[in-house]
Amino acid sequence: MKDKGGKTGRLEETVADTDTSDCESMSDGSELSGTTPDGQDFDLYPPGLFKKFLTQTKGMKGLDLGTYFPDRLCFIRDCGIEADWEKEWEGQVLLSHNTTLSGGVGLLFSRGFTPSSLEVEHVWWDRGKVEMQLLCQQYTLNATQDTRRSIKDLEMEIVELEAIGSSTGDRGCIETLQSKKMALASLLDILFNRLSAARVNWQKSEALAVGRWTNGLPVLPQDLAWRRDGLKYLGVFIGDEETEKKNWLDTLEKVDGKIQKWKWLLPRMSYRGRTLVLNNLVASVLWHRLSCMEPPSGLLGQLQTRVLAFFWDGMLWVQQGVLYLPREEGGQGLIHLASRTAAFRIQFVQRFLTGPADLMWRDVARCVFRRVSNLWLDDALFLTDFKFAKLNGLPPFYQSVVKAWALFKVEKRTSSESLYWLLREPTVHGARLDVSAEAPPRLTAALWRTRTLLLQHVVAVAGPDLTGAEAVGSLLGIRSTQAAEGVLRLWRNRLSTIERRILEDYGQGTEPDSEDPFPEIRLVAHLRNLDGPLLRPAKTFSLVAVDKKTLYNDCVRVLNRRGLSNRNTSVWADRLGGDGARPCWRVLYKPPLKKRTGDLQWRILHGAVTLNALLSRMNAAVSDQCPFCSGRETVFHTYSECERLTVLFNVMKGVFNGFKETFSIRTFIFGAGYNSKAACNKWQLLNFICGEAKMAIYVSRKNKISKTGDSEAASVWRCNVRCRLTLEFGFYKMMNDLGKFQDIWCHKNVLCTVTEDLLHFAHPLVG
Ligand SMILES: [Zn+2]
Repeated sequence: MKDKGGKTGRLEETVADTDTSDCESMSDGSELSGTTPDGQDFDLYPPGLFKKFLTQTKGMKGLDLGTYFPDRLCFIRDCGIEADWEKEWEGQVLLSHNTTLSGGVGLLFSRGFTPSSLEVEHVWWDRGKVEMQLLCQQYTLNATQDTRRSIKDLEMEIVELEAIGSSTGDRGCIETLQSKKMALASLLDILFNRLSAARVNWQKSEALAVGRWTNGLPVLPQDLAWRRDGLKYLGVFIGDEETEKKNWLDTLEKVDGKIQKWKWLLPRMSYRGRTLVLNNLVASVLWHRLSCMEPPSGLLGQLQTRVLAFFWDGMLWVQQGVLYLPREEGGQGLIHLASRTAAFRIQFVQRFLTGPADLMWRDVARCVFRRVSNLWLDDALFLTDFKFAKLNGLPPFYQSVVKAWALFKVEKRTSSESLYWLLREPTVHGARLDVSAEAPPRLTAALWRTRTLLLQHVVAVAGPDLTGAEAVGSLLGIRSTQAAEGVLRLWRNRLSTIERRILEDYGQGTEPDSEDPFPEIRLVAHLRNLDGPLLRPAKTFSLVAVDKKTLYNDCVRVLNRRGLSNRNTSVWADRLGGDGARPCWRVLYKPPLKKRTGDLQWRILHGAVTLNALLSRMNAAVSDQCPFCSGRETVFHTYSECERLTVLFNVMKGVFNGFKETFSIRTFIFGAGYNSKAACNKWQLLNFICGEAKMAIYVSRKNKISKTGDSEAASVWRCNVRCRLTLEFGFYKMMNDLGKFQDIWCHKNVLCTVTEDLLHFAHPLVG
């Protein structure tokens, strides 16, 4: 389908096509024909095929029409029993939870509307899905297990009867259907009399008319009004393009306004504080909409720029991808909006493939997924490699779902024991049974031409043992039987022993069970040959079990992979991390360290500190020399090499010795990581001491340059630590809990002691 002027254009185009061209395009009725891999419009279900299908399946129970005919509606309409169908309703009805009695929203489709114009269904289902889930939860929450099962059974029966009844025009079926509908209605009636929350609030309800209504719009109950443009459903605008724009209209202004409210506090806020404000108070207003709608292109980028500007308040010091990493990996956990959105989309797929069986929007989503790359696969689509995925004509939300899924690759598949899913293994697009790399070059084209896209189709021709070389040869146009046998062998070799046995059983009459859960798949971030310490380790995860935090962090890595590749964990890696050691990120901010000290430690590790070596590059008038010696003032010189640090480091050594530990530059810069709970107090204190030492270096340098205050690092350190201890002592004394003070601060009496309610500083602090 060509995209002419967006959604409304496409919709009208489809409706117009349906009215005139169906008969012509159905001229070739004997087989599935005219299919092309790249697929513009083609007719998948010519009338001849319908007839054949109906004869073959007459009277069959448990038939899932959707498997055979994605265009279920079209199927029913084209079977020439319009009159009967109309008795139920003039056009298609979609309700938020498949019943006519309860609350929520219903969409009424005109007869001219076909499911190919899925734009609208998607619009409504996606937009309201978050709320709908809530509503459905509410709806089933108070129902007993029995009622729920009864509802489901009845609904299933109705669907089957509708399908069979409509397709055959069987009067008996239609009557049974009526009575089943009545049974369901009364059951629900009982249920909903007890459930006031689920009733329709007619004052707040609106109805959206979609498609063409030749005889005017139907009368709605309770003076409910029709709208043509769109409506607001639980906080989100749904409808045509203009209406949906309203959702994002003032987003930038709103975010700016929120950011503005915090600006005054910015200079006093640590990076942690800024992240907190941005993630939880600013960006969070977007989550609701981003989870169910696709924002206009460019908007997320603009918002992200604002996030970064607030975070840095001026100069951008650290590669932005690093900022988005979790704190324990050297980032600040700052929100990356595109990654959050991608994670929402993966969660959508997760729910689609592995969520509860009675997921309300699943059928609609299936209809849309069938259109991806013209494969007409729904769940099985996710067994193919998405690098081949084509998005033509897909609604924007689903385009973004497909793109998000392509950020990951399927790393490992457990050999499925399900016959149903084995038969639905795709044969193209990099799926497990895509043998194109080893097969004759024309095989793929032949598979597409004959729509032999699932193992099921191969088995239908070649038999469950996959040996019918002659039949396969004639289907795929392979002249030599030997060559056809070669192709079959490729497929056989891809199957495990168990799978071949499952196929044998199928040959013996075992029926596939469509209720089998989707095969377990393990995904891994698709980093496309990029590598580096910040991209490792790329861990695989199970789709069914993965949590949203893992998903988000992996999306961050994939979407920022260029900035993160071949980058060291810290600028100190070459000097201190030769044996693979990494900074102990998680202790840098541990109390009793102040957040500001944490920020300094983090900046030193990333080389993000204002020093003369850097300033001189930006301004030729500034010397790159250390204010204390003749060395070049780099971050390494300032925090580990400068001669003036000897005094301070000697004090550090003394303190570490007091704790029976050894001081090293690595521990000093990387932070003192510890695992043992028992030694927790000791390391907590050592961390504090190291952090304060870095702060003392920073402060004394500043004092030296401004020629005010103390410029001797060790004495600044003493002063600061004494000051902190006095404050803490005062606090715990007032709280009458000096025991607690001693636990935290008096470990081995290295820093201080408490005797008779008085604080005494120990040697390192007296100097
Ligand atoms: Zn120096």
